[in-house]
Amino acid sequence: MESILLLEPSSTQKRQAMAQMLRDPQTAAEGDGEEITKRLRSLRTAAVEARNDLLGELQSAAKEQTSRRWFFAADAASAAGIIRQICPDTAAVAVNKSAVVTAEVVPFLHAAGLTIVAPYYDGLAEVEARFTQAWQVPEVPLAASRNAFHSTDDLPARRRQSLRERGARNLAAVIGVNALAAADGSAVLLQHRANIRQMLTECRRIILVAGIDKIVPTPADAVFQASCMAWFGTAALALDLGRKANPAPALDNYPFTIGPGDVSEKITVILLDNGRSDIATGAYGALLQCIGCRACAASCPAGEYFGAPRPSPRELLFTDLQNTVAPLMHCIQCESCRSACPLSLDLPGMILDRRHRRARSFPALSDRLLANAEIVERLGSRLAPLANLFLQNRLVKKISEAAGGIDSRRTLPFFAAKPFADIYRDFLTRSEQ
Ligand code: SF4
Ligand code: SF4
Repeated sequence: MESILLLEPSSTQKRQAMAQMLRDPQTAAEGDGEEITKRLRSLRTAAVEARNDLLGELQSAAKEQTSRRWFFAADAASAAGIIRQICPDTAAVAVNKSAVVTAEVVPFLHAAGLTIVAPYYDGLAEVEARFTQAWQVPEVPLAASRNAFHSTDDLPARRRQSLRERGARNLAAVIGVNALAAADGSAVLLQHRANIRQMLTECRRIILVAGIDKIVPTPADAVFQASCMAWFGTAALALDLGRKANPAPALDNYPFTIGPGDVSEKITVILLDNGRSDIATGAYGALLQCIGCRACAASCPAGEYFGAPRPSPRELLFTDLQNTVAPLMHCIQCESCRSACPLSLDLPGMILDRRHRRARSFPALSDRLLANAEIVERLGSRLAPLANLFLQNRLVKKISEAAGGIDSRRTLPFFAAKPFADIYRDFLTRSEQ
């Protein structure tokens, strides 16, 4: 029996996790992070490899279901067309903040003249948007976020009860699915506020949108994948609070005008390709392993130049691969996103590669220097102090600026003749004597 599982923060569990951190910071901070990332990598690699089989299995399971209508959309325009077709008399759409909805489908809904309501941001105060830079985002240990969520499957029953008692607001809710089980179509939705619960119980029509990369074999896999998204993405929420500048009307502004008995309980699910099949078979296939946690967004110092609302490095590249030219040149190749990613996806390498393919030219000197920082540093260290003298020379600085884009006013760090590992080893030897 297919179900809708909601993964949401639990204040009790959050308090218990904080107490554990205070009681025994070492165990709480370490937890079993390595086991989790290992399991996640193996799940995502297998899911991308078996994507066609999983899609087939899901489509067979969907045929058995009577409580849902299933559609397949080749692109976002078709998905918006399906939504319009099943909601001909709805002028407003409530959306959650998942990228598959906001970045892919919403532009087409907007173009179709629909009002977009974003209940996630309803009621957030101005002051809560104070984190605008990656380096301001507080670090959230995995152990703390890991124990802060619980899952519930009471949504279909709550919706039924609410519709019978109050009817519905005349909106369609378009909600991105975080994981979908091929075995029985169970969908897992992750919420950090009460927005999804409210949309599911109060909106007239419910449309779930799932990128085909979100399909995993079993309901247990789906819960695990969505849980990882919650655990690794907690810090990024601080950056997202800034998005509420959106002047959209609040969901509560829409009264319950659809009477009890006039609402269909049937839920629509749209499986969306939108370039994913092509990406899977191309040079950037690994990108489909992404679970959409946005840990890379929380670590990226250049994110504010990627556009608004601030896309994660993964969303930036994904948009570009879907043939909407994205400002990839703003990536400074710092590699922070790769370290932050629970799957260690090589986003910097893929972004650089895409940049070169787009330019169809030999990589710029600055790109080559940034992409090969280790070689440059090893060379500089071998040639220090000559390299240091050379780099401080005004003429060399001007040439570096013209050829490599390195600002001549910048004083670059000095190369040390001895690698740090050797200095540290010497220090240990001296301390032992
Ligand atoms: S490598 Fe690029 S995308 Fe990744 S964190 Fe650094 S600037 Fe951002
Ligand atoms: S690429 Fe970004 S969003 Fe995707 S899994 Fe890695 S950190 Fe999370």
